[in-house]
Amino acid sequence: MGKVIGSDEYGRRVAKHYRKLMEHCKVNLDRIEAEYPEPFLNFKELLKERGVSRRAFLKWTSAMTAALMLPPLFRPVVARAAEAFGRLPVVWLHFAECTGCSEAFLRCSYPNVDDILLETISLEYHETLMAAAGYQAEQNLEKCMQDFAGKFICVIEGALPQGLRGQYLRLGPKGKTGIQIAKEVVSKAAAVVCIGSCSAFGNVQAARPNPTDAAGVGKVLGIKTVNIAGCPPNGVNFTGTVLHYLMFGDLPALDPLGRPIWAYGKRIHDVCERRPHYDAGEFVEEWGDAGAKKGWCLYKVGCKGPYTYGNCGKARYNDAVSWPVMAGHGCIGCYEPGFWDTMAPFEKPIDESTIGGGDRTADNIGLALTGVTAAGIAAHAVASAAVHRKKGEAPGKETVKAAQEEKHG
Ligand code: SF4
Repeated sequence: MGKVIGSDEYGRRVAKHYRKLMEHCKVNLDRIEAEYPEPFLNFKELLKERGVSRRAFLKWTSAMTAALMLPPLFRPVVARAAEAFGRLPVVWLHFAECTGCSEAFLRCSYPNVDDILLETISLEYHETLMAAAGYQAEQNLEKCMQDFAGKFICVIEGALPQGLRGQYLRLGPKGKTGIQIAKEVVSKAAAVVCIGSCSAFGNVQAARPNPTDAAGVGKVLGIKTVNIAGCPPNGVNFTGTVLHYLMFGDLPALDPLGRPIWAYGKRIHDVCERRPHYDAGEFVEEWGDAGAKKGWCLYKVGCKGPYTYGNCGKARYNDAVSWPVMAGHGCIGCYEPGFWDTMAPFEKPIDESTIGGGDRTADNIGLALTGVTAAGIAAHAVASAAVHRKKGEAPGKETVKAAQEEKHG
């Protein structure tokens, strides 16, 4: 049997671990500041110019430190990494997509720290934003790959069509296929970040019948990618991932689908503000009913929060003002692979839209993590039923149904 560690000893070991980690971050940031060029825009000046107070910035560093699962003593390191954000050269490629991810990152009614960070990013090549076109754009890309070989981050927006040997997508003055361009750029990049569910998993391009045989970048090229999933994804999940890279010189821990665990480690259902209504069996039965007006749970009108992993409800969209469930529409599962075929079109619980039979059907929709989810939901339902019984209350219909299924298999 292992030796039991006393709380003092445990505390000393934790403190030692974090001291070592802090030292590692400092060494890495020193290296970044020595090796990478000065940022094009000064982050501190930009904060001042945009009216972001010191207090607001400190609040942001606290929130980002916590989001990255680091203790508060890392706040100065996060602040230093934010200042170095603009040093990291980025090549942003567009393949089969709608550019909604870039739009989601760029559109904001007032600048918060994340938006300003994205503004300072050293975009060496971005087809939507750069002024250059044709041969000049291609030269810019080649120059960046040469000047920053092994140092730049390759961000990819959009899926890669594989049909007709990739010829459904030809780009640039030389008419290269998306697959050709991706292979060339990726081979020189320090890391590949897939922005949005199209580049991560294929998304709408790969939805049935998928005539171009589109798929996610990692799958097509057989490489490891960091998947910032979402349709669109949240800018915070991208900035946090880059900050992690700047601090630690490495990518954050990923889940089996390549998504950073710090951002995609929890189920939307578990951090949803409507969750108390789910627990109480209070559901919106149809759009616009009394339950909808009272802000009850959207599960019965098709919310896929129980099958979806991400921080949507915490990070929120539109300058962190709202997110779909808050606005009154259920989650469509856009952080998960294949959601266009399995989750988004069905405005009813997933079991009724597939084979019937409760949350067990989550196992049949081909998602890597939903088996765990289904077990969690069943366990939760049993626990809820027990609580209701203890209180002498009648559990909600869903709770009864799931509890019966758990009991009878
Ligand atoms: S089912 Fe949807 S609305 Fe209901 S608690 Fe879960 S995530 Fe929130």
